Amino acid sequence: MNNLEHNYKVLRSHINNDTELIAVLKASAYGSEIVRISNHLESLGVNQIAVAYVDEGVYLRKQGVKIPILVFYPQEENFEKIIKYNLEPSLYSIKTLIKFKKIINLQKKIKYPVHIKYNTGLNRIGFKPEKVKWIHKEVQDDSIHLKSVYSHLASSESSKKNPLSIKQINLFLKIKEYHQNHFVKKTKFHLLNSSGVFNYPEYQFNAVRCGIALHGYANKLEWDEKLKPIAELTSTICQIHRIKKGSNVGYDNGWIATKDSSIATLPIGHADGIGRHFGKQSGYVSIKGKLVPIVGNICMDMLMIDITDIECKEGDIVSIFGKQNNASRFAKMGDTISYELLTSLGKRVKRVIHK
Ligand SMILES: *Cc1c(COP(=O)(O)O)cnc(C)c1O
Repeated sequence: MNNLEHNYKVLRSHINNDTELIAVLKASAYGSEIVRISNHLESLGVNQIAVAYVDEGVYLRKQGVKIPILVFYPQEENFEKIIKYNLEPSLYSIKTLIKFKKIINLQKKIKYPVHIKYNTGLNRIGFKPEKVKWIHKEVQDDSIHLKSVYSHLASSESSKKNPLSIKQINLFLKIKEYHQNHFVKKTKFHLLNSSGVFNYPEYQFNAVRCGIALHGYANKLEWDEKLKPIAELTSTICQIHRIKKGSNVGYDNGWIATKDSSIATLPIGHADGIGRHFGKQSGYVSIKGKLVPIVGNICMDMLMIDITDIECKEGDIVSIFGKQNNASRFAKMGDTISYELLTSLGKRVKRVIHK
């Protein structure tokens, strides 16, 4: 929680006083613990949350979260639920806008807060920029309050001269100009995620949407250094084997000892989110400040590490990633990224919250 607070303050120090910070808490707050994190961020001053899917928002409401919740990727079949739980949809196509309007009109809602998402180049989800005039016509009546207009950069962490980012920013500026000239003035604009805050502070507009940076990562070493990882994944050695040179370890002869060795088994495996790509000496975990390799193939429930050169015993704690060996660094060893590593942690991994 202290590190979360640190990251929040670092982000706030990078954004203007009148720019809002939307805390992105999708996928259970990036695999951690969504309710406590949401409440803590609210106490620090966050007044808007974003999640990916409707059920994530419903869960937060059922847990007593009262502040506005933006749903990035609502699906049409959940539109009634959105209204029932007072969530704010992102509308991203003619079909979704028309359908949502139809439902709020049926329910005689007025000024229901919605957000419009434009596709400026990521080509994932969003209105084509040229639909701006059509949208203008559709949001005239009283049923809708167009709370914000936003888009998402495809490579916010790449160098600033990145042509795709420049193209996206310019398109977004044009969309913004049209909106401001033709629409009611209260609409907010936002474009940046975590890396964007560090890379393009001049385009933070009225809000920024930060997820991974609250967790301590921002996709570049120099930005990561300002932040503190909020999660550490630990395990304990459950058995140690002294094995002879030439012995095999794990399924499918995944590792053969080149000398007499000590092997420790940890009760965590690919079912817990440490995938097979971390096996066979790709991934290193940390014991007493020293890095040791994962050897052999990772099993569903367990993995083995080579502790030949380390003094340790059964019951000792091992850090898989965290302070010393952070999630971004550990992720790279398995050819993945912090986002995937954090959000892949399985249900069996206990989340324990520390001050
Ligand atoms: C996930 C997401 C974010 C947050 O991105 P981070 O890189 O974690 O800060 C922002 N905006 C949208 C639309 C997203 O899907």
